Order: sequence, then C-alpha cells, then structure tokens
Amino acid sequence: MMGYLRHRAVTDALALLALGVFAGLLATWLDAFEHLVAFLAHHEEIEADELLAAVVLTGWCGFIYALRRLSDLRRESRRRRQAEGDADWMASHDPLTRLPNRHFLAKLMEQREARYRSAEPRTGVLRIDLAGFKQVNDALGHLAGDGLLAETAERLRAAFPDTTVLRVGGNEFMVIMEEALPWTLPWSAQRALKAVRGTVKEAGEEIEIGVRVGAAAVPEHGPTLREVLRGADVALQAARQGNRNEIRIFDPAMRAQMQARAWLDRALPAAVQSGAIRPYYQPVVDLAGGHVAGFEALARWRAPDGRFVPPDQFIAAAERCGLIGTLSEHLLRQVCEDAAGWPAPVWVAFNLSPLQLADSLLARRIIAAAREATLPAQRLEVEITESALIQEPEVAQRVIDELRGAGIRVALDDFGTGYSSLALLSRFSFDKIKIDRSFIRSFRGDEKQMKIVRSILGLGLGLGTAITAEGIEEAGQQRLLRELGCQYGQGYLFGAAMPCPEAASLLARNQPERKQPAA
Ligand code: C2E
Ligand code: CA
Ligand code: CA
Repeated sequence: MMGYLRHRAVTDALALLALGVFAGLLATWLDAFEHLVAFLAHHEEIEADELLAAVVLTGWCGFIYALRRLSDLRRESRRRRQAEGDADWMASHDPLTRLPNRHFLAKLMEQREARYRSAEPRTGVLRIDLAGFKQVNDALGHLAGDGLLAETAERLRAAFPDTTVLRVGGNEFMVIMEEALPWTLPWSAQRALKAVRGTVKEAGEEIEIGVRVGAAAVPEHGPTLREVLRGADVALQAARQGNRNEIRIFDPAMRAQMQARAWLDRALPAAVQSGAIRPYYQPVVDLAGGHVAGFEALARWRAPDGRFVPPDQFIAAAERCGLIGTLSEHLLRQVCEDAAGWPAPVWVAFNLSPLQLADSLLARRIIAAAREATLPAQRLEVEITESALIQEPEVAQRVIDELRGAGIRVALDDFGTGYSSLALLSRFSFDKIKIDRSFIRSFRGDEKQMKIVRSILGLGLGLGTAITAEGIEEAGQQRLLRELGCQYGQGYLFGAAMPCPEAASLLARNQPERKQPAA
C-alpha cells in the first residue's frame, strides 16, 4: 500500500513538473509575461493586479497546506507501521511468559526451510513439560498455574541465555540451540531438568515441580528442524511414561513404540464395540486339595493380523481413550455368563482398572451384571490394585463396602509391588490378598524373600484373609507354598489363561471329588 502511494506521488510530481516546464516554455514563446503586465496596466479599474496577487497567494497557501497534510500522512503511516510491529510481536509471543510461541516456531521453520533446502545446520532441541501441572491448576486455581508457568519460563531463560526458549503449549516449553555440539545434548537436557525441578511457592503453598524432557538434534535424528521437533516430541512422550523427573533422548525404536500406541488408539474403539476383546480364564488352584477352585478372567485381544495384543497395552490404551468403562462392562457381562455355566462353587475373579474406581456407580453395575447372568455373588471376586485405593480412597472404600455387602469378594492384587502399606490393610477389608509373582519367582533361593512371603501368609492368617500366590511356574514353588500354608496358587504350572470351552473341559477333568492333583 505504502509503495503504491509513493509511486503515485512521484508520477504526479513528474507530471506537474513537465506541465510547469511546458507552460514556462509556452509563456516564453508567447511573451506571456509582457502581455500580462500590459493587461494589468490596462485594467487598473478592476484591481486585476491585486486579484492576481490573491490568486498567487492562495496557491502558496495551498502548497503549504499540502505539505502539512503530507507530514501528517507520514506520521500516521509511521504509527501504523509500529502498531503492525506490535501486533506481529503479540502474534508470535506468549503474553504470560513473554516467550516466543508456536507461530514464531512455524515462521522459524519456514525461514530455515527456505534458506537451507534439505540440509539444515546443526541444532539441538529440548521439549520440556511439567508433571502435575494440571493438579496445581485444579487444586490451587489458574492464578497459581500462571505463576508456575511464569516462574518456569524465568528459570529456563536464566539457564539458557542467548538461546531461543519458547512456550509452545499449555505447560510445554522448548529450547532451540543453534550450533549445538552433539555431545552437549544430554548435558543441556540435564540443565533444563535441574533448572526447572524443585519447589515453587504459589498461593502460599510449596509446589514440587516434576519435569520431563525429550531431546533430539539435527542432523543426528533428522535432517530438518521440523523432523527433529517430531523426534523430540516422541522422546517427550516416552519420558512422560517414566518417573516425575525424566529425560529421554530420541531413539528410532521410540518411533516404533509411538506408532504402535497410535495404532492401538485407532483400532481399539472398533475392537471394544465388536467384542473382539474376550475374556480368557487362568485356573486358580486350591493348593491343599489340588483342584481348580476358580479362574481369573484375563482379557485377550487377537488383532486382525492374528497376533495377541498384550493386555497391559490395550488396557492402558482403553484408559487413555476413555474406553475402559465400556470395555470392562462388555467383558464383565461375558465373564458372568461364562462363570454361571461352571459347576458351583467354582468362582471367577475379575480385574478392575484403578480408573474405574472413580465411578461411584461401579459396584451397582457389577452387582447387576452378576444378577443378570444369574451368577451368585459368592462366586464372583473383583481384584483391585493398591494404586486404585490410594488415588480415591473414599470412593474406593464405598465401592468395596457395597460389593462386600452384596456378597462379592474383594481381592488386593499384586501385593508387594506397590506401597504394600499396612495402613491400607487396616483401612480396607479384603477377602483375599494376591502375592505378586515377582516375589514367588525368587523366594526359594532368597532367605529374605522367603521371610517376606512367610510374613504375608502370617498376616493373611491373622486377618482371616485368604492368600493366593501368583506366578507359580515350578512344582517346587507349589510344594513350599503349600507347606507354608498358602491357600491358593496360580501360574503357568497349572495353566495359562485359556478360552472358556477349555476352562470348562479342565473343570470337567478336575473336580474336587476326583481329587486329581494339578501338579
Ligand atoms: P494381573 O492381574 O497381575 O494378571 C496376571 C498376569 O500374570 C497375567 O498377565 C497372566 O497371564 C500372568 N501370569 C499368570 N501366570 C504366570 C506365570 O506363571 N508366570 C508369569 N510370568 N506370568 C504369569 P496378562 O494376562 O498379560 O495380564 C497383565 C495385566 O493386565 C494383568 O495383571 C491385569 O492387571 C491386566 N488385565 C488383564 N485383563 C484385564 C481386565 O480384564 N481388566 C483389567 N482392568 N485389567 C486386566
Ligand atoms: Ca489380577
Ligand atoms: Ca496380579
């Protein structure tokens, strides 16, 4: 716009100049001035000379007026340029932390791509996010959340002076280090972690900040900044699966993992709806009698390519995608139906995900599923892990009480892997404790592990709680556990999880009256 105006001003000036020169030449050629003087002298009566003077004066005034408007126009256009600059700054910066934002990053990538084509210069990238930021926001309010972000930005800026530090998302920051040497990448990631972690005082509370860092570099992990940003993102996602303070440098295997996760998230909804995820049943044996006392239902998903997707993975995906409730409901209905067909008193145990315990209607849903399938409540057991009890103890307490009130047994799963706090055992009432397989694997050769297993068994005896030992793979483990008074055993020695018809035929062969030892 300004260019167009300038161009018009120049052409106008040239045209006027040409017109002036032409008029001057014409006037010289016609002796116009002499004629004018003679004309003025002859028309003294009508004050022609004064009139001419007035016309000339008005012309000059017009000229001065035009100059003043021109200067106004200049000032206005300067102001507009400055405002445009401010708007540009605002569009490319985050107002809270005053750090460059995603638009800035997009421009930076465009510039680099235009300038370097495919081979961009050496650059290190750190993607940083805060663990537990959402909780701070929820518990202490948005002002505290904003304060935390501003403080983080300040710490990163101080740790990386003369380096581009950006805020690229809610609680995600980025450091772009031009000309970074390859060996400095882990060191820089450490520096970011150390700078940000620690406590911050917000809203009168000391907040412990956890930091996750994903790092990648041009050209080690990709030829362009755009690709390396994706690599650093993959590394950050891997870091998010670790501890509160975690650093991950990009590695191509991570990409495969992330692709697998993305596939899971895409394929899972259809698998849940179509019932492709089915319960299998792993026998649980009465160690003294040697017969099958019940089964643990374990979810199995055979993907279209024929391979089984590990349950840890699809259960985690169902939790991520908010599908765990639906999946669990489908499975439980099937499990109750299958178990209702087994001879009494064979029972079935069903696993609950910690997330489900937040559902205050959970117990009612479970009771209804058993009733619909005409499975007596005494033949249904639910398994809960410690983490579920710690996250929402009040809701968990209510769910457990309701289930037990209806006659459904509640087992504490994977005992020994989490907090294994005695407070949990005193606060909640369980009908069964399942000792995690990591203890059973090594307890025979390990004096200390043996003592722990013995103590858990003593604890169960004292509390009147049954104990199941998980992961029994050898006859020796079975013998020893029986001698120690462990009531139930489960593991590959007795059988892995199997489809319902196989479980039914195992039961037909293995009834207590016949007393066929399972091993
Ligand atoms: P979990 O509840 O601890 O289940 C026992 C796991 O140990 C099962 O793994 C089982 O196959 C495995 N296992 C059994 N015996 C042995 C043995 O002798 N040696 C070894 N090494 N492993 C043994 P799986 O089926 O892969 O399940 C893994 C986890 O996935 C389960 O751990 C449970 O937390 C979860 N899961 C499985 N099915 C469901 C489900 O229907 N709902 C929910 N919420 N979680 C489920
Ligand atoms: Ca279990
Ligand atoms: Ca377990």
